[in-house]
Order: sequence, then C-alpha cells, then structure tokens
Amino acid sequence: MWERARFASRWDPDEAPPHDDLLGGCVHASRLLGQDPALVLAGGGNSSVKTVEADVHGDDVDVLWVKGSGWDMGSIEPAGFAPLRLAPVARLAELESLSDATMANELKAASLDVASPAPSVESILHATLPHRFVMHTHADAVVALTNTPAGHELVREVYGDEVVIVPYVMPGFDLARRCAVQFPAEATDRTVGMVLSNHGLFTFGDDARTAYERHLELVARAAERLGDALAAAPTPEVEPVAPPSSHEQLVAIAELRRDLSGVAGHPMITSCCADAALRRFAARPDLQRVSQQGTATPDHVLRTKRLPMLGRDVGAYAAAYEAYVERNRARLGDRRLVPVDAAPRVVIDPELGVLTAGRRVGDARAAAEIYAHTVAVIEAAEALGGYRSISEGDLFDVEYWELEQAKLARQPTPAPLTGRVALVTGAASGIGRACAVELLRRGAAVVGVDLSEAVGMVSTEPAYMGAVGDVAEPDVLRAALSEAVRSFGGLDLLVVNAGVFPEPASVAALDAATWARTMRVNAEAAAVLLGLAHPFLARAPGGGAVVVVGSKNVPAPGKGAAAYSASKAALTQLARVAALEWGGDGIRVNVVHPDAVFDTGLWDDELIATRAAAYGLSPEDYRRRNVLGSEVTPEVVATLVADLFGPGFARTTGAQIPVDGGNDRVI
Ligand SMILES: [Zn+2]
Repeated sequence: MWERARFASRWDPDEAPPHDDLLGGCVHASRLLGQDPALVLAGGGNSSVKTVEADVHGDDVDVLWVKGSGWDMGSIEPAGFAPLRLAPVARLAELESLSDATMANELKAASLDVASPAPSVESILHATLPHRFVMHTHADAVVALTNTPAGHELVREVYGDEVVIVPYVMPGFDLARRCAVQFPAEATDRTVGMVLSNHGLFTFGDDARTAYERHLELVARAAERLGDALAAAPTPEVEPVAPPSSHEQLVAIAELRRDLSGVAGHPMITSCCADAALRRFAARPDLQRVSQQGTATPDHVLRTKRLPMLGRDVGAYAAAYEAYVERNRARLGDRRLVPVDAAPRVVIDPELGVLTAGRRVGDARAAAEIYAHTVAVIEAAEALGGYRSISEGDLFDVEYWELEQAKLARQPTPAPLTGRVALVTGAASGIGRACAVELLRRGAAVVGVDLSEAVGMVSTEPAYMGAVGDVAEPDVLRAALSEAVRSFGGLDLLVVNAGVFPEPASVAALDAATWARTMRVNAEAAAVLLGLAHPFLARAPGGGAVVVVGSKNVPAPGKGAAAYSASKAALTQLARVAALEWGGDGIRVNVVHPDAVFDTGLWDDELIATRAAAYGLSPEDYRRRNVLGSEVTPEVVATLVADLFGPGFARTTGAQIPVDGGNDRVI
C-alpha cells in the first residue's frame, strides 16, 4: 500500500473536460482524488477554482467556486460547488478573530447563488491562496509523516522546499488566518503544495490537471518514504485475532451492544471488522500505547471518537469520556455544550477483534473504514519513530466545534426502528419480503432468510443481508443469526414467517411425508429458531420482540388443509408458551393471523382457482371474501408486523391479531 506506483496519475485527457471549462476541470480533479480512500474518507477534503463571472449588471466579478459541505468529493457535481465573491471572502482573513456563526453568515452573504450549498469551512483558506485550482485532502501518507515526533523534519526531508509546512491549527478561521500570513511569507516559485501538520495536504496549479497531479506526486513521495521506513522497521508479526464464531463470542457481542446502547441512550448497530490488518492490530502486545494516542486527522473524531475502547467495560469507557469532557469544557467559553453520548465508536477486544458502532449501519461502516486507515497510519508512523496525534484539547475543540454541533442539532428525527436488528424468515417473497422492506423503511437493519436466492435481492441497502437456505436446517438458522450478530451486533426483532402450504388433501387421504414436512417447516423449524434466537433477544437493548405469522386457519380451519391448519395451530401454541416463558426476559411474542394473502410464494393462479372452487366462488370473489370486502396484501400484513414492534404494542404479548379483512366464522 505504501508504494509510489499506487499513486500514479489517473488523469485521462479523453475523459477530462476541455481546458477552458474551469469548473468542470475542478469537478473532474475532485472526483479523481475523492474516489481514492487513501486520500479522502467520509466526506473529508475539499477543493476550489477561481473564475471570472458576469454579475447581474454584466460586470466582471472574481468568483471562488468552493466545495459545499455535505457533498462527497468522489461523486461531486458542479451543483456541489458554492460560487462566492472572492474579494470579500479573502478579506475576512485580515480580521483578528471571527466566530463560526459570523463566518458562516459572511460566507453566505458573499454567495452569488442562494440555492448553492453551504460553502466549506475552509473557504477563506481557499480564497487566500493565490492559485486558480486548489485541492485539499487528508491523505493517509502525508498524515502518517506528520503524526510522528520528527514530523516537521520528515516533511522537509521528503519535499525539500517545495511545500510550506503549517503547524497544527484548528480548522476554520484560525487555520485560514495562519495560512494567510505564513503562506505568502514562505512560498517561492518552487512551492507546489502546503502540508498541514496532523491534518492533510494542499496542492495548487493554474490548471486542474497540474493541481491534481502535484497532489498525487506529493502523496506518492510520502508513501515511498513510509514504504522504506516499514522495510527497515517492519510492523511486528503477530497472530491476528480470529473472527468471532463461537456461541459464547456471539453472545458476548450481543452483551457488548446492549451495554453500549445503554450508554448511548438508544439502540446502536455494532459491526465486527473482518479486515485482517485490523484483526492483527487487535493482537498487538503494545495495543494500549499505540491505540490510545488520538485520531489520524481531526475530523475523524466525529466518527470514531478520540479513543477506541479496549476490552468490554463500557461503563469505565463512558466514565473516562465524561471526565474528558469535564476536563475540557472550559475551552467552549460561554458557548453551551450540546452533549455527545459517551459510548465508544470503535472497540478493540483481544478475543472479538475490532468492532465499530453507530446509530445506523452506515455510521458503523464509516467508523470501520476510517479506523482501518487509522491503523495503517499508526503502523507507518510507528516505523518512523512513533505515532503521535494532536492533543486531547485540540481534538475536543473539533468534536465540540460549534459548526459540527449545529449539524447534530439539525439532524432529522431518526426512523422509529433505527438501530434495531431484525431477522425475517421466508423473506424472498410475499409477506416475508414485505416485512423485510417495511422494517428497513422504518430504520431497522434486516437479515432475510429464504430457500430462494431471490432473498439476496430484496434490498441493496447496506442495512440488509440475505441468507440462502432451508429454515428446516438448524445450521441455516445458526448461520443467519451469526450473520445478524457479526454484521449488526445482535437481534431485537424476529419475524417467524417461512412456511409451506401443501397440496390440498382430505384427512382420509393424508400423505405421511407431506404431513411431516409441513409440521417440520411450519412448526418445528420455528421452535428451533426461537430456541436459537432466545439468547440474543434476551440481550436486545430495549427488549426483544417476536412476531409469528400464523394463519386464519388457526381460528377457522378449511377443508383439505389439515396439515397446514394443524401446523399453524402448533406454531400458535408454541408462540403463546414462549410469550409466557419469556416475559421475564423482556421479550414480547405475538401472533398475526393473515387470511387470503395471495401474493406470496404459497399461491399461484391454479391454486387460487382450486381453493375458490372448493368454496364455490370465482377467483376474484375468493380474493375478497371477507367482511370488509377488501383484499389483504403482503404490505398490509407487513405494516401490522412492524407496528407490533412499535410503542403502541409495548405492553402487548401473547396476543393473536387477525389481519384478514374480518372473518364471519371468527367474529
Ligand atoms: Zn481538512
């Protein structure tokens, strides 16, 4: 990874916009940089281009197009750049001080387009640099060089006088002001970039390609230096921590998630990192020292917190975090502190490896990606004399930065099941599929299980995983539960839905094998699943919940459906006993009894015609033969199932709820 060739230019003149399309060139260069995670992670980095535009009077105006916040460099478009009047923005750097709120106001006031996004917090810095194209990333290789005891000397050794080196200063106005003074004083004709210690790299040029290629060239030189250092002082070989697999380990993960969610105040997703480098890092004998220094670049503090938790004592971590906040809160002056929860976002355990946590699956994934890069930076910096981060106070300033806190305050209310983990059997079609989709829509992470491979295609969201297999095989159920625990941290919600509807047969003509298979899938497999799921449901933050999909055939069986009706009755009794036994564990178990849901894997047109004939009805009337005279769709059932996991049913267990349009044989 630390090789010069890894950072070869990917500029293709055939793909790049024409030379005179300045904004297009900036977009293109930004994307090339932003698509490389060794340069840009989780919305980090920014870029700009200076142009001349005509204002509403037709007069020429110098304009700074700067990356808008909330846009990712890797996928940015022209609309992701905010056009600002250059002169008033550059002049802000002359002020002695500027509050974040005033800066945001001034930048907005300088905008030529009120519909454009909020400009980057580094806009003033971009404005003061006397170059047309400016590119900024938090490149791992450059950060690794500077995050060492001799960082300044190393940067000088690698780049000579081609860069200006700026010591660590809080991003935003303070950094812009510092650069506005230092850059003109130190830049020469040979200057092609600026290294911000413990933060990242700026490069510039009169055309987009030059600014981009200088960026890669400087990163490549840093990578080469790191590669040499690691060749001379390799990372000590250790046996990586094995991915957690035993039942005890999976239960330990569920307990960790429960504790972590308790501290956070809401359910959190917890994901195991499969990455071998992370599992090796977790086994380092000097883990305590190398992991407890701080982040690689300041903005990572928002995703990973300042320090990972070592081991599983969440209470001790939270106490230490609160003490850190108390030690530093005076730095806020008279500004009110918006609290951030005290739960860790990265956990390193000698037995479980590295786990990351977040409110949503995407948050846990982002923390994992950042921490994988952090480990690479730490190990390279260790080969250069030791990894050093910025001070605790400096990181606190970024974690509790007014602008970041304002973003937190603006976050929309999360969907009601956010942070919860669900498992749905029979998820490839019909009611199961509709349940998986509805639970995802309400914010849950979902593992779907089904015999059909279509279960893998229910959703492309990262919060969804499909597992193919027969629910009548206990190993399939074990594997799906392991997936839920490893990927999302546990199990809160279980939808027992998979079932078979055998060929109609009268009691006098029952086939023993069909009877056995029906009982096995519809009842026995459910019993096995409940048993396997119990340890995880019992550790669900906020309590576990199960919904069993029964059938109207339980209260109102039909001729020719003996095996099916008996199996669903057995399933219902199973659920009722589970409700009795598990109340003390905080687990609710309820049953829904759908009727005549035809859009499922169980039904085809021929079967509908046969069943309709058995009742002396047309297929159309058969679909709507209920008190309300309306069809029961999988979506209707899924809405009820998801509602049963919500607050309205928080005191309901052991219930059987029909979702059948009203059945006159039951009412
Ligand atoms: Zn930056």
